[in-house]
Amino acid sequence: MTLQDEMKKRRTFAIISHPDAGKTTMTEKLLLYGNLIRSAGTVKGKKSGKFATSDWMEIEKQRGISVTSSVMNFPYQGHQINILDTPGHEDFSEDTYRTLTAVDSVVMIIDSTKGIEAQTLKLFKVCRMRGIPIFTFINKLDREGKDPFELLDEIEEVLDIQTCPMNWPAGMGKRFLGIFNRQKEEFVRYNGDEEETIIPYTELHAHSDLTENAMFQDAKEELALLDEAGDNFSLDDVLAGEQTPVFFGSALAPFGVETFFNTFVSMAPAPGPRKSTEGVVSPDHPEFSGFIFKIQANMNPAHRDRIAFVRVCSGKFERGMEVKLSRTGKTIKLAQSQQFVASSRGTVEEAYAGDIIGIYDPNIYRIGDTLVTGKDKFEYDELPQFPPELFKKVTAKNVMKAKQFKKGLEQLVQEGAIQLFKRHRTESYILGAVGELQYEVFQYRMKNEYNVEVMLESIGERIPRWLQAEQIDESLFDEGNLLVRDREENHLVLFRNEFALNWFQEKHPDMKLIDLFEVN
Ligand code: GDP
Repeated sequence: MTLQDEMKKRRTFAIISHPDAGKTTMTEKLLLYGNLIRSAGTVKGKKSGKFATSDWMEIEKQRGISVTSSVMNFPYQGHQINILDTPGHEDFSEDTYRTLTAVDSVVMIIDSTKGIEAQTLKLFKVCRMRGIPIFTFINKLDREGKDPFELLDEIEEVLDIQTCPMNWPAGMGKRFLGIFNRQKEEFVRYNGDEEETIIPYTELHAHSDLTENAMFQDAKEELALLDEAGDNFSLDDVLAGEQTPVFFGSALAPFGVETFFNTFVSMAPAPGPRKSTEGVVSPDHPEFSGFIFKIQANMNPAHRDRIAFVRVCSGKFERGMEVKLSRTGKTIKLAQSQQFVASSRGTVEEAYAGDIIGIYDPNIYRIGDTLVTGKDKFEYDELPQFPPELFKKVTAKNVMKAKQFKKGLEQLVQEGAIQLFKRHRTESYILGAVGELQYEVFQYRMKNEYNVEVMLESIGERIPRWLQAEQIDESLFDEGNLLVRDREENHLVLFRNEFALNWFQEKHPDMKLIDLFEVN
């Protein structure tokens, strides 16, 4: 098979959702279709008490959660599927955002009883801003949920994206009858635990128990309304991230999941070209290239080994090959590569654009690093720094350890594990993170890798804004509106709340405050 054939087969995506919307259930169903697992309930141990996908890290073991995203891959209907798991909830961190830089599309799962929920909104927005195609699955139709039109409105409004329902539900909860498949013009009947039945539109007349049902009739009217007034399906718009195809179903039943997946696989994009310092790099460029989007440390504390996750962007990866780290120009032999399949770590012999490989990191990589072969020396676009929301003062418990403290802090910050800010005058340090877990990992690694116990003191949730002004009058700032500098010496103000931010802006219209989210 040629490079191009291999690359075209790849479907690399993440499933994102609010906790409890059904991501695990959905993932398991997909793994079942891919014959990767034989029974459900094996992916996450959190609730079921069964083993978790990854429990390498001590923290993971203690908390019974998966700290960092894992990757699952399997062949499916002539395609090669790569699912990148994104941790959500309290495990939410910058890694969750960064994972989105390594995928070609996302599946967004929404709980029909809840709609779009706050925490996940940011994740969806990052996809939207980056133009990642979003496929929506509205889950739990077997429960009494919100009105489907209301759900579509919500998606359109908060994400500023067009929606195009690919199927349409008749009833819900106890009165759930099934879905109209608009593309195939057939009605898929929901039979509870029994297998679904498929009835072509042309044969519906023979099913009077359905056609005479008021819910069914309502749904038919809604469908007519959609045909007339709804947005037309446009694959181009979907691929441009301007329209999201919407599917209704139940991941648990499962109902509508297989059809969803098949449609998804046929429509979702294969790896595309990526921007670099030397122009756009095509995925079938003959030389290997990729970038590191995540570094997972201490999976085995005894060996202190670290794994860098590489998204392959072009060419062919082969075990044992030599690559060049663009940032330093150094050549590295990649003898140990590991690819992550569900809960077992296997060795990869080869990989193509779209694949994710884990490589051993002897402490030389940074998040965002580019690896290339041949004469290439370009670097892929820098990964954006995602705006932290939680801030804590950090100090070493033992002042005698100032040196190790600084070293550890510097290295972990450089690696991208957490963000560092300096207070204006005092030169004291403030750490910024997207999620609480980042602090736990930081504290753990400082102790284990640098032998320094650190103290963290929360200064609460803050609203960070970059500050642009001709002159910065320091007397305007205090503990409430805290002035800090980031690594590039840019000024930021960490506002106590929205009110303080608005008040400040009104008082000082000449000072420009920039939302970190808007820049990414
Ligand atoms: P995650 O936190 O997004 O991974 O959600 P899970 O997949 O763990 O699902 C959360 C809960 O919702 C579990 O108890 C599931 O059994 C349940 N669930 C998932 N999908 C459905 C569905 O389609 N219908 C119903 N009734 N429950 C579901």
